[in-house]
Amino acid sequence: MQEARRCSGHVVVTGAAGFIGRHVVAALRAQGHRVTGLDRRSWTPDLGEQAVVADLLDPAVRPVLGRAAAVVHLAGCPGVRDDRPDAGRWRWRDNVLAGQTVLDAVPIGTPLVVASSSSVYGGAGTPRAPRACREDDPRRPRGGYARSKAALEDLCQAARADGRRIGVLRPFTVAGEGQRPDMALHRWIEAVRTGRPVRVFGSLERRRDVTDVADVARAVVAALDRHLDGPCNVGTGSTHRLADLVDAVVAAAGRPAHVRVVAAGSQEVAATRADTAHCRAALGFVPTTDLPSLVARQAALQPALLATG
Ligand code: NAD
Repeated sequence: MQEARRCSGHVVVTGAAGFIGRHVVAALRAQGHRVTGLDRRSWTPDLGEQAVVADLLDPAVRPVLGRAAAVVHLAGCPGVRDDRPDAGRWRWRDNVLAGQTVLDAVPIGTPLVVASSSSVYGGAGTPRAPRACREDDPRRPRGGYARSKAALEDLCQAARADGRRIGVLRPFTVAGEGQRPDMALHRWIEAVRTGRPVRVFGSLERRRDVTDVADVARAVVAALDRHLDGPCNVGTGSTHRLADLVDAVVAAAGRPAHVRVVAAGSQEVAATRADTAHCRAALGFVPTTDLPSLVARQAALQPALLATG
Protein backbone atom coordinates (compact mmCIF):
# COMPACT_ATOMS: atom_id res chain seq x y z
CA MET A 1 0.00 0.00 0.00
CA GLN A 2 1.32 3.44 -0.91
CA GLU A 3 0.06 6.09 1.50
CA ALA A 4 1.07 9.69 0.99
CA ARG A 5 0.53 10.93 4.55
CA ARG A 6 -1.73 10.51 7.56
CA CYS A 7 -5.32 11.38 6.65
CA SER A 8 -6.89 12.39 9.95
CA GLY A 9 -9.73 14.83 9.33
CA HIS A 10 -9.84 14.00 5.64
CA VAL A 11 -12.83 12.91 3.64
CA VAL A 12 -11.80 9.53 2.23
CA VAL A 13 -13.14 8.83 -1.27
CA THR A 14 -12.90 5.20 -2.38
CA GLY A 15 -12.81 4.67 -6.14
CA ALA A 16 -11.10 8.06 -6.42
CA ALA A 17 -9.31 7.14 -9.66
CA GLY A 18 -12.62 6.35 -11.35
CA PHE A 19 -14.98 8.38 -13.52
CA ILE A 20 -17.27 9.67 -10.76
CA GLY A 21 -14.49 9.62 -8.17
CA ARG A 22 -12.42 12.26 -10.02
CA HIS A 23 -15.42 14.61 -10.08
CA VAL A 24 -16.31 13.97 -6.43
CA VAL A 25 -12.76 14.67 -5.27
CA ALA A 26 -12.75 17.94 -7.25
CA ALA A 27 -16.14 18.97 -5.82
CA LEU A 28 -15.04 18.23 -2.25
CA ARG A 29 -11.78 20.13 -2.75
CA ALA A 30 -13.74 23.08 -4.17
CA GLN A 31 -15.80 23.10 -0.95
CA GLY A 32 -12.58 23.31 1.07
CA HIS A 33 -12.52 19.70 2.29
CA ARG A 34 -9.24 17.90 2.79
CA VAL A 35 -9.46 14.74 0.72
CA THR A 36 -7.72 11.38 0.66
CA GLY A 37 -8.42 9.39 -2.48
CA LEU A 38 -8.21 5.60 -2.24
CA ASP A 39 -8.12 3.30 -5.25
CA ARG A 40 -6.25 0.20 -6.34
CA ARG A 41 -5.43 1.89 -9.66
CA SER A 42 -2.81 4.60 -9.49
CA TRP A 43 -3.74 8.06 -10.75
CA THR A 44 -2.50 11.65 -10.74
CA PRO A 45 -4.06 13.24 -7.64
CA ASP A 46 -5.60 16.73 -7.64
CA LEU A 47 -3.55 19.48 -6.09
CA GLY A 48 -3.81 18.92 -2.33
CA GLU A 49 -5.40 15.46 -2.65
CA GLN A 50 -3.61 12.70 -0.77
CA ALA A 51 -3.49 9.37 -2.57
CA VAL A 52 -3.65 5.87 -1.16
CA VAL A 53 -3.17 3.16 -3.80
CA ALA A 54 -4.54 -0.05 -2.31
CA ASP A 55 -7.27 -2.64 -2.65
CA LEU A 56 -10.12 -2.28 -0.15
CA LEU A 57 -9.72 -5.94 0.77
CA ASP A 58 -6.17 -5.25 1.93
CA PRO A 59 -6.44 -5.07 5.77
CA ALA A 60 -3.90 -2.23 5.69
CA VAL A 61 -6.59 0.19 4.41
CA ARG A 62 -8.72 -0.20 7.56
CA PRO A 63 -6.88 2.49 9.55
CA VAL A 64 -7.26 4.91 6.63
CA LEU A 65 -11.03 4.40 6.73
CA GLY A 66 -11.09 4.28 10.52
CA ARG A 67 -9.66 7.74 11.09
CA ALA A 68 -11.47 9.54 8.26
CA ALA A 69 -13.69 12.53 9.05
CA ALA A 70 -16.19 11.16 6.51
CA VAL A 71 -16.19 8.46 3.84
CA VAL A 72 -17.61 8.41 0.31
CA HIS A 73 -17.63 4.83 -0.97
CA LEU A 74 -17.66 4.78 -4.77
CA ALA A 75 -15.26 1.90 -5.46
CA GLY A 76 -16.90 -1.03 -7.17
CA CYS A 77 -17.23 -3.18 -10.24
CA PRO A 78 -19.66 -1.17 -12.42
CA GLY A 79 -21.33 -1.98 -15.72
CA VAL A 80 -24.53 -3.91 -16.42
CA ARG A 81 -23.13 -5.67 -19.49
CA ASP A 82 -19.74 -6.84 -18.24
CA ASP A 83 -19.56 -10.23 -19.95
CA ARG A 84 -16.21 -11.45 -18.65
CA PRO A 85 -16.54 -15.12 -17.63
CA ASP A 86 -15.56 -14.18 -14.08
CA ALA A 87 -17.67 -10.97 -13.91
CA GLY A 88 -19.81 -12.51 -11.15
CA ARG A 89 -16.77 -13.08 -8.97
CA TRP A 90 -15.54 -9.50 -9.45
CA ARG A 91 -18.97 -8.06 -8.73
CA TRP A 92 -19.20 -10.06 -5.51
CA ARG A 93 -15.68 -9.14 -4.50
CA ASP A 94 -15.72 -5.41 -5.35
CA ASN A 95 -19.37 -4.51 -4.78
CA VAL A 96 -20.32 -6.72 -1.85
CA LEU A 97 -17.18 -7.83 0.04
CA ALA A 98 -15.49 -4.44 -0.38
CA GLY A 99 -18.71 -2.76 0.80
CA GLN A 100 -18.75 -4.93 3.92
CA THR A 101 -15.12 -3.99 4.55
CA VAL A 102 -16.03 -0.31 4.42
CA LEU A 103 -18.99 -0.80 6.76
CA ASP A 104 -16.78 -2.72 9.21
CA ALA A 105 -13.90 -0.24 9.12
CA VAL A 106 -15.75 3.10 9.26
CA PRO A 107 -16.69 4.00 12.86
CA ILE A 108 -20.41 4.23 13.57
CA GLY A 109 -20.45 8.02 14.06
CA THR A 110 -18.51 8.83 10.87
CA PRO A 111 -20.66 10.19 8.02
CA LEU A 112 -20.80 7.61 5.22
CA VAL A 113 -22.20 7.88 1.69
CA VAL A 114 -22.30 4.76 -0.49
CA ALA A 115 -22.86 4.49 -4.27
CA SER A 116 -25.57 2.02 -5.17
CA SER A 117 -27.28 2.24 -8.58
CA SER A 118 -30.63 2.91 -10.25
CA SER A 119 -30.28 -0.60 -11.69
CA VAL A 120 -31.75 -2.00 -8.45
CA TYR A 121 -35.19 -0.90 -9.74
CA GLY A 122 -35.01 -3.17 -12.79
CA GLY A 123 -36.39 -0.51 -15.12
CA ALA A 124 -39.24 1.95 -15.21
CA GLY A 125 -42.03 0.62 -17.38
CA THR A 126 -42.18 1.06 -21.14
CA PRO A 127 -40.47 3.58 -23.43
CA ARG A 128 -43.91 5.06 -24.25
CA ALA A 129 -44.80 5.46 -20.59
CA PRO A 130 -41.68 5.43 -18.41
CA ARG A 131 -42.79 5.28 -14.79
CA ALA A 132 -40.72 7.30 -12.33
CA CYS A 133 -39.07 5.01 -9.75
CA ARG A 134 -39.37 5.95 -6.08
CA GLU A 135 -37.01 4.98 -3.32
CA ASP A 136 -39.71 2.96 -1.54
CA ASP A 137 -40.62 0.95 -4.66
CA PRO A 138 -39.90 -2.78 -4.44
CA ARG A 139 -36.52 -3.49 -5.98
CA ARG A 140 -36.42 -5.81 -9.00
CA PRO A 141 -32.73 -6.07 -9.93
CA ARG A 142 -32.11 -7.65 -13.34
CA GLY A 143 -28.68 -9.12 -14.02
CA GLY A 144 -25.62 -9.75 -11.90
CA TYR A 145 -24.53 -6.12 -11.53
CA ALA A 146 -27.94 -4.97 -10.28
CA ARG A 147 -28.15 -7.92 -7.88
CA SER A 148 -24.72 -7.14 -6.44
CA LYS A 149 -25.77 -3.54 -5.84
CA ALA A 150 -28.97 -4.74 -4.16
CA ALA A 151 -26.81 -6.97 -1.93
CA LEU A 152 -24.65 -3.94 -1.07
CA GLU A 153 -27.81 -2.00 -0.19
CA ASP A 154 -28.91 -4.87 2.05
CA LEU A 155 -25.63 -4.64 3.96
CA CYS A 156 -26.16 -0.90 4.37
CA GLN A 157 -29.75 -1.47 5.50
CA ALA A 158 -28.60 -3.99 8.12
CA ALA A 159 -26.06 -1.48 9.42
CA ARG A 160 -28.72 1.24 9.49
CA ALA A 161 -30.98 -1.10 11.46
CA ASP A 162 -28.14 -1.28 13.98
CA GLY A 163 -28.40 2.47 14.41
CA ARG A 164 -25.97 4.09 12.01
CA ARG A 165 -26.72 6.71 9.34
CA ILE A 166 -25.70 5.81 5.78
CA GLY A 167 -26.60 7.75 2.66
CA VAL A 168 -27.20 5.33 -0.23
CA LEU A 169 -27.20 7.08 -3.59
CA ARG A 170 -28.83 5.56 -6.66
CA PRO A 171 -27.38 7.42 -9.68
CA PHE A 172 -29.11 7.11 -13.06
CA THR A 173 -26.84 6.71 -16.16
CA VAL A 174 -24.03 9.16 -15.48
CA ALA A 175 -22.40 11.07 -18.35
CA GLY A 176 -19.74 13.74 -18.72
CA GLU A 177 -16.01 14.29 -18.84
CA GLY A 178 -14.05 11.08 -18.25
CA GLN A 179 -16.97 8.66 -18.67
CA ARG A 180 -15.89 5.00 -18.44
CA PRO A 181 -14.84 3.53 -21.81
CA ASP A 182 -17.38 0.68 -21.51
CA MET A 183 -20.35 3.08 -21.28
CA ALA A 184 -22.56 3.73 -24.32
CA LEU A 185 -21.84 7.42 -24.94
CA HIS A 186 -18.10 6.88 -24.71
CA ARG A 187 -18.25 3.95 -27.13
CA TRP A 188 -20.54 5.81 -29.53
CA ILE A 189 -18.37 8.95 -29.60
CA GLU A 190 -15.38 6.76 -30.44
CA ALA A 191 -17.35 4.83 -33.08
CA VAL A 192 -18.60 7.97 -34.85
CA ARG A 193 -15.13 9.52 -34.86
CA THR A 194 -13.57 6.44 -36.40
CA GLY A 195 -16.40 5.63 -38.83
CA ARG A 196 -17.30 2.37 -37.13
CA PRO A 197 -20.92 1.28 -36.49
CA VAL A 198 -22.70 2.66 -33.44
CA ARG A 199 -24.00 -0.49 -31.75
CA VAL A 200 -27.33 0.11 -30.00
CA PHE A 201 -28.81 -2.65 -27.86
CA GLY A 202 -32.48 -3.51 -28.39
CA SER A 203 -34.05 -0.39 -29.86
CA LEU A 204 -33.41 3.31 -30.50
CA GLU A 205 -36.70 3.96 -28.67
CA ARG A 206 -35.38 2.74 -25.32
CA ARG A 207 -35.14 5.59 -22.82
CA ARG A 208 -32.63 6.65 -20.23
CA ASP A 209 -32.63 9.21 -17.44
CA VAL A 210 -29.15 10.64 -18.09
CA THR A 211 -27.45 12.48 -15.23
CA ASP A 212 -24.64 15.02 -15.50
CA VAL A 213 -21.60 13.82 -13.54
CA ALA A 214 -21.23 17.34 -12.12
CA ASP A 215 -24.68 16.92 -10.52
CA VAL A 216 -23.74 13.50 -9.17
CA ALA A 217 -20.68 15.04 -7.50
CA ARG A 218 -22.88 17.83 -6.11
CA ALA A 219 -25.28 15.20 -4.79
CA VAL A 220 -22.46 13.39 -2.98
CA VAL A 221 -21.33 16.61 -1.32
CA ALA A 222 -24.93 17.44 -0.33
CA ALA A 223 -25.43 13.91 1.03
CA LEU A 224 -22.42 14.37 3.31
CA ASP A 225 -23.36 17.92 4.36
CA ARG A 226 -26.97 16.96 5.10
CA HIS A 227 -26.19 13.59 6.74
CA LEU A 228 -28.36 11.70 4.25
CA ASP A 229 -29.76 8.48 5.66
CA GLY A 230 -31.12 5.73 3.41
CA PRO A 231 -31.62 5.44 -0.36
CA CYS A 232 -31.87 8.50 -2.60
CA ASN A 233 -32.22 8.73 -6.38
CA VAL A 234 -29.78 10.90 -8.26
CA GLY A 235 -31.51 11.51 -11.59
CA THR A 236 -33.37 14.22 -13.46
CA GLY A 237 -36.88 12.76 -13.73
CA SER A 238 -36.72 13.23 -17.53
CA THR A 239 -35.85 10.64 -20.15
CA HIS A 240 -34.07 10.65 -23.50
CA ARG A 241 -34.52 8.13 -26.30
CA LEU A 242 -31.34 6.34 -27.30
CA ALA A 243 -31.96 7.95 -30.72
CA ASP A 244 -31.62 11.37 -29.00
CA LEU A 245 -28.31 10.27 -27.48
CA VAL A 246 -27.04 9.20 -30.91
CA ASP A 247 -28.12 12.56 -32.36
CA ALA A 248 -26.21 14.38 -29.61
CA VAL A 249 -23.10 12.30 -30.39
CA VAL A 250 -23.42 13.10 -34.12
CA ALA A 251 -23.72 16.83 -33.33
CA ALA A 252 -20.74 16.74 -30.98
CA ALA A 253 -18.53 14.74 -33.34
CA GLY A 254 -19.62 16.57 -36.48
CA ARG A 255 -19.89 13.29 -38.39
CA PRO A 256 -22.75 10.95 -39.33
CA ALA A 257 -23.44 7.77 -37.41
CA HIS A 258 -23.86 4.31 -38.92
CA VAL A 259 -26.27 2.79 -36.43
CA ARG A 260 -26.54 -0.95 -35.97
CA VAL A 261 -29.28 -2.18 -33.62
CA VAL A 262 -28.24 -5.48 -32.02
CA ALA A 263 -30.01 -7.90 -29.70
CA ALA A 264 -30.26 -6.75 -26.10
CA GLY A 265 -29.44 -8.97 -23.11
CA SER A 266 -32.10 -9.60 -20.49
CA GLN A 267 -30.40 -7.10 -18.16
CA GLU A 268 -31.11 -4.25 -20.64
CA VAL A 269 -34.24 -2.52 -19.36
CA ALA A 270 -36.56 -0.60 -21.67
CA ALA A 271 -36.57 2.65 -19.71
CA THR A 272 -35.16 4.29 -16.61
CA ARG A 273 -36.56 7.34 -14.87
CA ALA A 274 -36.05 8.77 -11.41
CA ASP A 275 -38.73 10.13 -9.15
CA THR A 276 -37.00 13.26 -7.88
CA ALA A 277 -39.14 14.23 -4.87
CA HIS A 278 -36.87 12.65 -2.27
CA CYS A 279 -33.72 13.99 -3.96
CA ARG A 280 -35.17 17.51 -3.84
CA ALA A 281 -36.19 17.18 -0.19
CA ALA A 282 -33.11 15.37 1.08
CA LEU A 283 -30.33 16.92 -1.02
CA GLY A 284 -31.87 20.32 -1.75
CA PHE A 285 -31.76 20.17 -5.55
CA VAL A 286 -32.74 18.10 -8.57
CA PRO A 287 -30.18 17.32 -11.28
CA THR A 288 -30.81 18.82 -14.72
CA THR A 289 -29.33 17.58 -17.97
CA ASP A 290 -28.80 19.62 -21.12
CA LEU A 291 -28.06 16.59 -23.28
CA PRO A 292 -26.39 18.28 -26.30
CA SER A 293 -24.01 20.34 -24.18
CA LEU A 294 -23.31 17.45 -21.79
CA VAL A 295 -22.35 15.16 -24.68
CA ALA A 296 -20.30 17.96 -26.30
CA ARG A 297 -18.40 18.47 -23.02
CA GLN A 298 -17.72 14.76 -22.77
CA ALA A 299 -16.62 14.48 -26.41
CA ALA A 300 -14.34 17.51 -26.13
CA LEU A 301 -12.31 15.82 -23.39
CA GLN A 302 -12.54 12.25 -24.65
CA PRO A 303 -9.13 11.29 -25.95
CA ALA A 304 -9.10 10.08 -29.54
CA LEU A 305 -7.93 6.48 -29.72
CA LEU A 306 -5.82 5.35 -32.62
CA ALA A 307 -8.22 3.96 -35.21
CA THR A 308 -8.02 0.19 -35.15
CA GLY A 309 -10.28 -0.41 -38.15
P1 NAD B 1 -15.21 3.42 -12.26
O1 NAD B 1 -14.94 2.02 -12.65
O2 NAD B 1 -14.74 4.50 -13.18
O3 NAD B 1 -14.60 3.70 -10.82
C1 NAD B 1 -14.59 2.71 -9.80
C2 NAD B 1 -13.20 2.70 -9.18
O4 NAD B 1 -13.22 1.79 -8.08
C3 NAD B 1 -12.09 2.23 -10.14
O5 NAD B 1 -11.09 3.23 -10.26
C4 NAD B 1 -11.54 0.95 -9.49
O6 NAD B 1 -10.14 0.81 -9.62
C5 NAD B 1 -11.94 1.16 -8.04
N1 NAD B 1 -12.09 -0.10 -7.32
C6 NAD B 1 -12.94 -1.12 -7.60
N2 NAD B 1 -12.83 -2.09 -6.68
C7 NAD B 1 -11.88 -1.69 -5.81
C8 NAD B 1 -11.31 -2.28 -4.64
N3 NAD B 1 -11.70 -3.49 -4.21
N4 NAD B 1 -10.36 -1.60 -3.97
C9 NAD B 1 -9.94 -0.38 -4.40
N5 NAD B 1 -10.45 0.24 -5.50
C10 NAD B 1 -11.40 -0.43 -6.20
O7 NAD B 1 -16.79 3.53 -12.00
P2 NAD B 1 -17.73 4.83 -11.92
O8 NAD B 1 -18.54 4.90 -13.16
O9 NAD B 1 -16.94 6.01 -11.48
O10 NAD B 1 -18.73 4.38 -10.77
C11 NAD B 1 -18.47 4.69 -9.40
C12 NAD B 1 -19.55 4.02 -8.55
O11 NAD B 1 -20.83 4.50 -8.93
C13 NAD B 1 -19.59 2.50 -8.73
O12 NAD B 1 -19.86 1.92 -7.47
C14 NAD B 1 -20.75 2.29 -9.68
O13 NAD B 1 -21.33 1.00 -9.52
C15 NAD B 1 -21.68 3.42 -9.28
N6 NAD B 1 -22.59 3.86 -10.33
C16 NAD B 1 -22.09 4.36 -11.50
C17 NAD B 1 -22.98 4.78 -12.49
C18 NAD B 1 -22.49 5.36 -13.81
O14 NAD B 1 -23.33 5.63 -14.68
N7 NAD B 1 -21.19 5.57 -14.00
C19 NAD B 1 -24.36 4.70 -12.28
C20 NAD B 1 -24.83 4.17 -11.07
C21 NAD B 1 -23.94 3.77 -10.11
